[in-house]
Amino acid sequence: MSRPRVHIIGAGLAGLAAAVDLAPTGAHIILHEAAKAAGGRCRSYFDPRLFMEIDNGNHLMLACNAKALAYADMIGARDRLTILSDARFDFIDLASGKRSTLSPWAPPLPLWRLSREDGAGLSTFGDYANLMKLALSQEDRPLRDIMRCDGALYDGLLRPLLLAALNTDPAQASSALARGLLRETILKGAKACRPVMVRGGLSGALIDPALRLLETQNVDILMAHRLQALHLTDRRVGALQFDGEVISLRPDDLVILATPASIAAALAPWIETPTQFNAILNAHFAAAAPDGLAPITAVTNATTEWLFAYPGRLSVTISAANHLSAHDPEDLVQRIWREVSRITGSRAELPPWRILREKRATFAATPEQNKRRPSTCAALENLFLAGDWTATGLPATIEGALTSGFAAAREARLFLKRQSPTPSTLRKTFAHADHG
Ligand SMILES: Cc1cc2nc3c(=O)[nH]c(=O)nc-3n(C[C@H](O)[C@H](O)[C@H](O)COP(=O)(O)OP(=O)(O)OC[C@H]3O[C@@H](n4cnc5c(N)ncnc54)[C@H](O)[C@@H]3O)c2cc1C
Repeated sequence: MSRPRVHIIGAGLAGLAAAVDLAPTGAHIILHEAAKAAGGRCRSYFDPRLFMEIDNGNHLMLACNAKALAYADMIGARDRLTILSDARFDFIDLASGKRSTLSPWAPPLPLWRLSREDGAGLSTFGDYANLMKLALSQEDRPLRDIMRCDGALYDGLLRPLLLAALNTDPAQASSALARGLLRETILKGAKACRPVMVRGGLSGALIDPALRLLETQNVDILMAHRLQALHLTDRRVGALQFDGEVISLRPDDLVILATPASIAAALAPWIETPTQFNAILNAHFAAAAPDGLAPITAVTNATTEWLFAYPGRLSVTISAANHLSAHDPEDLVQRIWREVSRITGSRAELPPWRILREKRATFAATPEQNKRRPSTCAALENLFLAGDWTATGLPATIEGALTSGFAAAREARLFLKRQSPTPSTLRKTFAHADHG
């Protein structure tokens, strides 16, 4: 008897997580990816101008990202992720030139101290009382309706952290997403907030090992294979249309749609999806970091928001960067390099550089857009949704994308179980499954 087929559309992290989770079930998994390479918005490539491999964007992960660590274990790439021993973050305010440090105050309690170079504390109990308003609220409204969006703790810590994670001006962002994020990170204490550094680039750590594993598990991986349309029959997906090819689905076949939101909306217009997106801009410089520069520095009162130091490369991230889309890249890069020079103390001329703008990097994390995120089950019995834009309760992040992929795999296993005709087939099919 032929095995049920699971068609996964999209080989970003969500689609890969679903594939890796489902491969041991014995179902025939087919991964269809429109691009020539996997990874979607989380990938690396060789840049000829910098003459090195770079990531499409700097990706910050923390030790509390349990799904990311579990996924790395599943694909045998845990050694590519290093959890730093300290949850200590360097900040610099470029308006005043003052540097500060965020460090745990009284571990293991979730109390943090934002202090200046001279050791003076910057955060007050009033700041923490303000933060508690958010922690205790139940609603999903713009953050500024729930708590004061000012003060040392907000300006120096919450704003940069929330802006990076939500890719949306924090004052307008969803208080539910901000609350969830803070509960998982700074309110969990220092251990949870240790940064995770990726060795060998995003593709080397999170994408290529997954593809290698899937190949050994006989998963069919079809690159440059773009889904053009879903054909429906009797409230099911009856066929998948690719360029010059239509694949008919049998009753026990299913589809996991793991494309970005805008593509899912075009393929399945009956699904409500986020409709507003924000850009992220990364500026990469082929320049060595000076001794003593932290791997990650948060920058306030500047165009630069985060500076990442890698071997032979300095790299800047700017979130919610829609306002920079019309800027001339030459002017912009000069401005960013001047800021980097001030942070690092470098006097060097502008080195070889690359600006990467991801126009639709993530959905805009406002309460209105957050409400538009659909659940995994998409109103058709053999169609499931995955992607960082689905209703994971998390922002559009690596953790969110992986959570959605595992959730889709869980629903897929339940579907396959329902279709499974005999107990013996069922035993065979699910021998390794059911850890979701
Ligand atoms: C610049 C940048 C910086 C970021 N920084 C961080 C960070 O610091 N920390 C963090 O945790 N997250 C960060 N993120 C977010 C993170 O990268 C995403 O949340 C995650 O990669 C999304 O994965 P996904 O699988 O949901 O979607 P995608 O990665 O978009 O994958 C969807 C896949 O579907 C494919 N596809 C599209 N249409 C079709 C079709 N018709 N047929 C077949 N395939 C199709 C696409 O080619 C793509 O490969 C950042 C994102 C960007 C862009």
